[in-house]
Amino acid sequence: MTATKVIPGSSDTVIINSIAQNKIALGIKVYNLSAGEPKLPSNPHIMDGAIAAIRHGKTFYPPVAGFPELKLLAAQWLNQHYGCNYTSENCLIVNGGKFGIYLSLQLLLEASDEVIIISPYWPSYPAITKLFLGTPRIVQTHASNDWKLTPELLQQNITPKSKILVLNNATNPTGTLYQKKDLEEILSIAKANHILVISDEVYSGLTYDDQDYVSCGAFLEYKDQVLLIQSCSKNFAMTGWRIGFVMADTKIINMLTSLISQSTSGVTSVSQYAAIAALKNVQPISRWVCESMQKNRNIMLQGFQEYFGLDIKSPASSLYYFVALNDLGIATESSALVCKKILEEVNVALVPGSTFGKEGYIRFSFGAQEQDIRTGMKLLSDYIKSGGLNL
Ligand code: PLP
Repeated sequence: MTATKVIPGSSDTVIINSIAQNKIALGIKVYNLSAGEPKLPSNPHIMDGAIAAIRHGKTFYPPVAGFPELKLLAAQWLNQHYGCNYTSENCLIVNGGKFGIYLSLQLLLEASDEVIIISPYWPSYPAITKLFLGTPRIVQTHASNDWKLTPELLQQNITPKSKILVLNNATNPTGTLYQKKDLEEILSIAKANHILVISDEVYSGLTYDDQDYVSCGAFLEYKDQVLLIQSCSKNFAMTGWRIGFVMADTKIINMLTSLISQSTSGVTSVSQYAAIAALKNVQPISRWVCESMQKNRNIMLQGFQEYFGLDIKSPASSLYYFVALNDLGIATESSALVCKKILEEVNVALVPGSTFGKEGYIRFSFGAQEQDIRTGMKLLSDYIKSGGLNL
């Protein structure tokens, strides 16, 4: 029997990943500046939490919605750090932020509902929307305005079918950080138009140069308007543990819990104990991750200046530089072709802008290890200077 469902995916990244995997399998060193994760080891508190759970036999089915202790710690983390006002009943433990978004769209979308998505976007937003028969309404933003959704752009893209706005703050792939005033305006328009805001805040801990992070969960007057997605992945360098959180009205949390009970039955108990340990040590772990990533960001900036002679602005948040091909001295618009060639020829993995809905750009991740950042950038610059990318 053949499968008949069309599952939306990103073919550009699939091609890039398969070239990289083939090279690695052949023992070739790949400078991976494409991965969206801080390449740091798990913090000792996290490892100890997981090991103690295993040793004490805490390996049975967990509660479907997650351990109460973890739900409480997650609510306290968001309340204390970002001025939110959640209780543990507002919290659902999920297998990573991505699955939180998946479940939420599965629950909320009906055929042809429109989901407003800000471009450049994280590719899973339109893919998951389509999976549940919604229609992505892509709103193009501009570098000149720091890739922000403005109130005017939002107003122009609201139709009678608009149901959800997905807002990613801090932003992948642009590093944009929304300020309080930006969010206030967006939330007010959403409320006036009965649009639910899914606020994807998985990079909230990765803001640089001492900039504050403002959460959509901190606007208590818009509490019913916001479904918040959080995660341990980027904030505590825990991508492989697969722990995320949905924070929402209890009615929504209860319905999402029913979906989990018929799918995954909850999140791996050992990972939940690792997350409990992380949330009991938020300050030291998140400071360490953020400082490490700020250092990497600055090393990458140095690379752009030194190797490319590029006067580029550092991103305020997240893990990425989103750079115009033109600025790198590459005279073509096809980002997928460029990334494929760079990987094939000099073993540097990058993500094409086309993946994020924006041609003519490339995303560089500074989650990679220091030496890979330096060497990868030098190899790329030498390659461009040698004329290798005159396509
Ligand atoms: N949201 C954004 C914008 C992301 O970039 C990612 C991961 O790359 C996620 C959500 C999902 O993170 P996780 O499922 O690891 O929590």
